[in-house]
Amino acid sequence: MQTKCILCGGKSNLLEKVSKQIIKNLYLERFSIDIDRFMPDDLYYYSCEECDLRFFTNLDGSFPGGDEAFYNVLNKLDWYYSLEKSEYEYVKTFINEDSKVLEVGCGKAAFCEYLPNGAKKNYVGLEFSTDAIKQAQSRGISIKQAFVEDYAESGGGAI
Ligand SMILES: [Zn+2]
Repeated sequence: MQTKCILCGGKSNLLEKVSKQIIKNLYLERFSIDIDRFMPDDLYYYSCEECDLRFFTNLDGSFPGGDEAFYNVLNKLDWYYSLEKSEYEYVKTFINEDSKVLEVGCGKAAFCEYLPNGAKKNYVGLEFSTDAIKQAQSRGISIKQAFVEDYAESGGGAI
């Protein structure tokens, strides 16, 4: 089974089909979250031959994601929206004062603190957890509650 890479459009190969029932049981057991309402089927885990991006899709090719209540539960976990992540240090080396930054699933926008001042002004975070959004807003950072597909189709400003 193959699909197009969501980042570069390259050929991506199925690595693994992940059972919905296993994921459902793990979320129930560990976080008392029922994922049935937004997870229609098993997940498909792909790897891109071109850029090595790894990503999940639903059976119909759409992208899995939770809802506001789901991400609010995850926001309560210290490690989920951590203020420090090793990838923040790495990614910031690619960003300069004039950069525009779009962070998908930004949580409370901890990464924004790693940006040079110019880039902070051009930062946009997308997030569904209203608790995380409030935490970011208390620091003066504006977050949009939108799917990346909808944000892109709006031209980046209409939402
Ligand atoms: Zn790719």
